Amino acid sequence: MNIALIAHDRKKDDLIQFATAYEPIFAQHTLYATGTTGQRVIDETSLQVNRFRSGPLGGDQQIGAMVAQDKMDMVIFFRDPLTAQPHEPDVTALIRLCDVYSIPLATNMGTAEVLLKGLEEGFIDWRLLGERRG
Ligand code: PGA
Repeated sequence: MNIALIAHDRKKDDLIQFATAYEPIFAQHTLYATGTTGQRVIDETSLQVNRFRSGPLGGDQQIGAMVAQDKMDMVIFFRDPLTAQPHEPDVTALIRLCDVYSIPLATNMGTAEVLLKGLEEGFIDWRLLGERRG
C-alpha cells in the first residue's frame, strides 16, 4: 500500500512517536510524506520515505494529486487545529479529495491507531482489488 504521512509543525513530534510505535507495520508499505515531515521520519526512524515538497510549498497538493490518480491508499495527516496555516486551502483540498475517493484518512492519532490496526488486519485490502496501480 502507498501511505502518506503529513504533520503540521506542532504535531510532528506526535507523528514521529506514532511512526516509531508502528514502524514494523509501516516498513511493509511504501511511504510518502511532505518535505519536513518526511525528513524527520527518515532521520528519526529506520523507515524509507519518498518526500514531496514541504506542505506550504505544494506538498499537500502533490499528495492530493496521487489521491486523485488512485495511487494513494491511506493518508495520515496530523493536523494542528489550534494554529492558522498559510496553506489552509491546500489542507482542505487534500481532505476533500480523500472523501471524494473514499481514501482512509486519519487527522489525529486516535483515528490513526485504528487505521493502522485495520491495515494490519487486512481491512483495507479492498484497495488492492481491481487493476493494480503503478
Ligand atoms: P511539512 O508540511 O511536512 O513540509 O512541514 C506539512 C504541512 O504543513 O502540511
